[in-house]
Amino acid sequence: MKIHFIGGAQEVGGSCSVVEVGSRRVLIDCGQRMGGGAEVDRLPDLQRVQELGGLDAILLTHAHADHIGALPLIHLAYPQVPLYTNEATLALMKIMLADSLKIMQMRWLHEAEIPLYPEHAVTSMLGRVEVVRPGDTFDLGEGELQATFLLSGHVLGACSLTLDTAEGRVFFTGDYSVDAQRTVDPITVPTVRPHVVVTEATYGNRLHAHRKAEETRLAEAVARVVGEGGKVLIPAFALGRAQEVLLILLSEQKAGRIPRFPIFVDGMVRNVCQIYSLFPEFLGERLRKQVEREGNPFFSEASAARAVSQTERESVPLGEPCCIVSSSGMLTGGPSQFYAAELASDAKNAIFITGYQDEESPGGKVLALAEGTERSLRLGDRLVQFACQIAKYNLSAHADAVQISSLVAQLGPRQCYLVHGDEGARAALAPMISQTTETLLPRNGEVAEFAFAPSLGRATARPQRATPVELPALQRGPKAVKHGHAILNQARKAVALIEEVRQVGWRPESQELLLYVPFPKSFQERRAAFVRELGERLGAGVVVLAKNTAGELAELVRRRLPLGARLVKAPSLFPDGRAVLKVRLADGPERQRLAEVLRRETGLVVELEEPGEAGEARETVKADGRMELNAAYRRVREVLGSAGLAVLRCGKKDSPQEHLEVGLLAPWLLEGHEQLLQALEGETGYPIRPAGANLQALEKRARELLPPAWQVLKPFQWSGREARLTVARLPQGPELELVTRKFREELGVELKI
Ligand SMILES: [Zn+2]
Ligand SMILES: [Zn+2]
Repeated sequence: MKIHFIGGAQEVGGSCSVVEVGSRRVLIDCGQRMGGGAEVDRLPDLQRVQELGGLDAILLTHAHADHIGALPLIHLAYPQVPLYTNEATLALMKIMLADSLKIMQMRWLHEAEIPLYPEHAVTSMLGRVEVVRPGDTFDLGEGELQATFLLSGHVLGACSLTLDTAEGRVFFTGDYSVDAQRTVDPITVPTVRPHVVVTEATYGNRLHAHRKAEETRLAEAVARVVGEGGKVLIPAFALGRAQEVLLILLSEQKAGRIPRFPIFVDGMVRNVCQIYSLFPEFLGERLRKQVEREGNPFFSEASAARAVSQTERESVPLGEPCCIVSSSGMLTGGPSQFYAAELASDAKNAIFITGYQDEESPGGKVLALAEGTERSLRLGDRLVQFACQIAKYNLSAHADAVQISSLVAQLGPRQCYLVHGDEGARAALAPMISQTTETLLPRNGEVAEFAFAPSLGRATARPQRATPVELPALQRGPKAVKHGHAILNQARKAVALIEEVRQVGWRPESQELLLYVPFPKSFQERRAAFVRELGERLGAGVVVLAKNTAGELAELVRRRLPLGARLVKAPSLFPDGRAVLKVRLADGPERQRLAEVLRRETGLVVELEEPGEAGEARETVKADGRMELNAAYRRVREVLGSAGLAVLRCGKKDSPQEHLEVGLLAPWLLEGHEQLLQALEGETGYPIRPAGANLQALEKRARELLPPAWQVLKPFQWSGREARLTVARLPQGPELELVTRKFREELGVELKI
């Protein structure tokens, strides 16, 4: 058996190796080199793969760019070769590679660095992925090669890889962690003994600080800066570190050990958080239970964390004291670079570094500033003066020297290869590895060759083909589906990679899955096969409903408008599937072309009007007897408002039939207004129904009605239209009467003291 070390041997970056045994060749990881500028050779030596005569399979340990960044290129060369990984890593890969494409575009525009691969290479590659569960053993060539992934801590979905062959057993650790992290459990150590271990050595010359103490130190430092009126930026890698930092701050806030302050989350981080909450079975036990109980743990209702949209970004540095967690991790680009430039000059603010920094990266240079006398630094195209506090916290997701050598000692292999570490780290680690194990420090381009006794066993599973639009959670079949909650969970995973789906719902009475998309008609045409298959697999009906059609249409138009043209007013939608837009755009073929493009993309009949044409009147004119939706909402608010009813929200619902739902503090407040409602229904062309009580708003208003002098012992207990309250002293006479009447009149609620 041979291991060809192609990239990522004496370095962190560009991880890539080929294992050759019998007639089989498998590639393990295929990453990019990350830091540095246009002069860096980003790719491992892929030529070598060709010289070896091609590949039978590609195995992926996890979704960090230094392990998957060059995959699309290998895929272009070998489009038929299947890739194997787990479903969480597959979902993360899609996000990570989309981001890589974006970064390459930027580098192409600003630094004339040529993109490594085109977009279609990514899509096509994701279509060749087959998913396997950690712990399952699968065949990669009958009688020659078997593979088993096991979770390795580090980040969501990260795995080690055991290869059993006719010439012995090799254990590739991949990237791994031994300390308990907030998100994932430590590495699972295999129970079978390998002949050869190939281990990462990132921190082979380092001992980590006590994890818990370091977490506390970070949380307290952030709280101190915010408490003194400053803002803290924590640049963090979008996959892994950002989730750890968020959970540390949120749990310290929840426990009351630090005060609650806003935490803004920007960059790719939010999407990655979403994937974490979609795959609870890959999380550590505590977080898994929390996710199963409460859903997304990063952005739950009680959480102080908020995702920042692109339009809000500029206002964050001008706003209240806060903490900002944003990618990129080394300030090489992304929103973190913008925030650093904005915050750096104020001594009240702070930049806290929590992860590995390439010396040449802006993040590395910021750290160097803290030690030296230099006070200015170039960030992107801005020269920035630094006065803010700078500090470093060690929250590593890699094993340290003692942890690595202990793992190797526990496994007791005959040979151990140290990779994924710089020369210093590997040289320091080598003497710590047990003397009964032969320890080797391969360099890129070198080949290891050995032969031990066969270790093949019986395969326990077969990988499942996963197309990028259909994740494998579904492939466990409808038998596993017990109730709506389980179906919803599966459906969320299934649509995770379908961009058009904005929300998923479940209608228990009809056992139907609801998919909310901006343009239902075109969605149903384009994704007909997916919708059908989804229904079959779940054993449930699938209904496609509209969500935010007008808003997304406006967004789409803005992107598609030719130079110099302008959207003048938000689109008006009509129930017959027409959309009328006011666009300032010269007449002629350009206009027809735009209407055609929009029709194709949305399935709506789009009419483009010149502002000031007859369109003005048409906007609220009834079509098919119904009022344009936004006009209808306005009218509902107007009419009910004039009757003294505050409308909290108004929206169109499609179930059980199309109607307008009006949200007031409580539905019973509409009682006695039947005539008004009838008139409104006639005018808008929609039936009007009240939404359920908004208990939160109701309670808030109820509290405001209570005189402060009443000492409330027990908060409100609601039962139907009755509110019970326990107070220290029974209020008397006119005061009690007044409050009771206010409750009855304004809230329609009987107050019982
Ligand atoms: Zn990694
Ligand atoms: Zn790595």
